[in-house]
Amino acid sequence: MEKASKNSPFAEILAAWPEARLREVMARAGLEDVRRALGREQLFPEDLAALLSPEAVPRLEEMAHLAQRHTRRHFGRTIGLYVPIYLSNICNADCLYCGYALGAGRPGARRTLTQEEIRAECDILARHGFQSVLLLTGDAPKAAPVKYLAEAVALAREYFPSVSVEVYALKEEDYRKLVALGLEGVTLYMETYHRETYAQVHPRGRKRDFAYRLGASERAGQAGVRRLSLGALLGLYDWRLEGFWTALHARYLQKECWQSAISVSFPRLLSVPPRFTIRYPLTDKELVQLMLALRIFLPEVGFNLSTRERAGLRDRLIPLGVTMMSAGSSTRPGGYSNCDEETLEQFEIEDRRTPAEVVEAIRRAGYDPVWKDFDRAFFEAPT
Ligand code: SF4
Repeated sequence: MEKASKNSPFAEILAAWPEARLREVMARAGLEDVRRALGREQLFPEDLAALLSPEAVPRLEEMAHLAQRHTRRHFGRTIGLYVPIYLSNICNADCLYCGYALGAGRPGARRTLTQEEIRAECDILARHGFQSVLLLTGDAPKAAPVKYLAEAVALAREYFPSVSVEVYALKEEDYRKLVALGLEGVTLYMETYHRETYAQVHPRGRKRDFAYRLGASERAGQAGVRRLSLGALLGLYDWRLEGFWTALHARYLQKECWQSAISVSFPRLLSVPPRFTIRYPLTDKELVQLMLALRIFLPEVGFNLSTRERAGLRDRLIPLGVTMMSAGSSTRPGGYSNCDEETLEQFEIEDRRTPAEVVEAIRRAGYDPVWKDFDRAFFEAPT
């Protein structure tokens, strides 16, 4: 039998908002609740529920104006750029929705990049102008142990001032080792905050441990990681509930890890392996409502948008609260420096524009693309 992990204090906050209570609050929300939420300085969770409810749909335009104002006040007219580097596509987990999963049945070579190959990827991306990278692996502590991650972080720091990882959930002491080598950010999606769905889509392996994953971002913050990105994989369960729970988590981390900048991502399941059906797809309009509601509830939290989404939609979402975008991404190991090899990719990229084309689109929208690490001065200010 698998050993259950100790609960994060956030688990109690989550438990105070079970599905039945949340559905009831959303069902009771009326236009007056939405109006009140839009007029408040500091929103309560009930206000967020109203903004995520169907009742808020007729007020989307007003929400968009408010969201834009909040974003401009806290982030100006800038969009930070980052790029993912897939270090390994070996994974021992079997998440039903993922192309890297053991049982996904997708063809393609599986491998872990050597130091030399990581250097080749860094070299190309640094020449494109990127200064912020996200290093990714599957859930494979044997193929990509902490020692390997540490070497990869140290190597990437030779090229980029800002290095983040999106890897399996680690112990606090392991996050600490990576921070000592220059790690700045950790991206870790809960996938779904709905326990039953979590258990269904993670049928076996270490990742089944809901509590351990739920506490990972907090462990990273306590270890000194200065950027924490979280999110739910949209499409696994009802987006209104996932959005609410994600926002509560972000607010909790803002308080508990106050020295870290918190951001939320909106990964939407679009391409999945044949064995999986997306049971809770969300439309573009619903994605917009979700982002607006979260921006109004969390005015100081960054929003990341990856190339999973189509180019046209990404461009339209820029003014609604986005603060970081990936560009020119590949989701296969060696995807930048070794284009001939058909290694397995995690998911299909929708926005296939080059970094220069994305930069141009950001400028056309009236924003400044930012390559440099604009938070560094803040993080390194003397205390
Ligand atoms: S989501 Fe992550 S852990 Fe799960 S199968 Fe895919 S790469 Fe592995």
